[in-house]
Amino acid sequence: MDIMTKLDILADAAKYDVSCSSSGVGRNNSGGTGNCRSFGICHAWSSDGRCISLLKILLSNDCIYDCQYCVNRRSNDIPRASFFPRELAELTIQFYRRNYIEGLFLSAAVEKSPDYTMEKIIRVLTLLREEYEFQGYIHVKVIPGADPLLIYRAGLLADRMSVNIEQPTEGSLRLLAPQKSLSVIYLSMKELTDKIQEHKADRRHFRHTPRFVPGGQSTQMIVGASQDSDLAILHTAQALYEKFRLKRVYFSAYVPVNKDSNLPAVNTAPPLLREHRLYQSDWLLRFYHFKAEEIVDSTHANLETEIDPKTAWALRHPEFFPLEVNRASYEELLRVPGIGTKSAWRIVSQRRVAAISVEQLKKMGVVFKRAQYFVTCKGVYAGNKPYDPAIIRKVMVPEAPLQQMSLF
Ligand code: SF4
Repeated sequence: MDIMTKLDILADAAKYDVSCSSSGVGRNNSGGTGNCRSFGICHAWSSDGRCISLLKILLSNDCIYDCQYCVNRRSNDIPRASFFPRELAELTIQFYRRNYIEGLFLSAAVEKSPDYTMEKIIRVLTLLREEYEFQGYIHVKVIPGADPLLIYRAGLLADRMSVNIEQPTEGSLRLLAPQKSLSVIYLSMKELTDKIQEHKADRRHFRHTPRFVPGGQSTQMIVGASQDSDLAILHTAQALYEKFRLKRVYFSAYVPVNKDSNLPAVNTAPPLLREHRLYQSDWLLRFYHFKAEEIVDSTHANLETEIDPKTAWALRHPEFFPLEVNRASYEELLRVPGIGTKSAWRIVSQRRVAAISVEQLKKMGVVFKRAQYFVTCKGVYAGNKPYDPAIIRKVMVPEAPLQQMSLF
């Protein structure tokens, strides 16, 4: 098979993986090819919302596993292809030199065995880093269950690694991906977390300790392939951040590609709005001191699609509002819809000098059209409607239903 055909097949097969944004790794060119910018690598986005400035590709789509939600599963009759490591390394360098890409996002189906696949991935990375002296950004997928030594060797060459959890619960993983198990996935995540911490600690004392996965690790969960609620998804995401210090949990709306009684029908639209609400909730977990069980609970196990999760929480907790901006703590201000981390800091610093009025609040980067209903300034209610969650809900929910974008 010629290399262009392989490229067609394997770039197309990689489009379903979303865990590829870049992340804070900076490396100057010291005589080789390329460099690595801390930010901005993923500045180009395709029409489906996926990042395209990394060469996003599978090393092979010839998988021995049969995950029901995956287009590359063993039982699907699709064209199969595999790169030789040198072919892929050469292709990456050629694309970089033509300015098509700024880095590589390398994933792979499980070809023969996890160890075999991981060894092939390491070969690509070794060629790129050592022979071609490529210093650009590389994100690599870990094959769960691969030997820890192989994962370690890949980690010395990659900038970021991700072990995809795919499903939030053991039950749905067993149902949809019977060859995978959460315990094996967690073990690989733990290997990475431990080594990252070890290398960070060593680098504090020994300057020449090599960097190990400097961009940290991430994972991806497929949303909508199983019956799992948003509560289950957010609980798992929260546990992953706490236990394995992940940089990001990515949510990928399931694209119905396979017919199966355990999966949504093929002609159903992917739940992109749900994916969007999950990302907003993820933001609340990471930066707004929310807990998963506050955003959704057993009585509201799924996120509302019409309003963002922070506003939904605020409307469910009228006892918390309206909040006096001149007295509320930083953490309390973060709970107000329309007040972000920066505007909360501005409020806290400004009120040390003088109490904040409604007019001043409008100039502090607050999204006033949302925040007005939830705050008072110097005892004056800022909203143009009375404080009543039912009335506020009517104002905030868009009249026309939100449009579903098409994905591919
Ligand atoms: S391991 Fe599962 S998800 Fe990954 S490529 Fe194979 S079938 Fe697809």
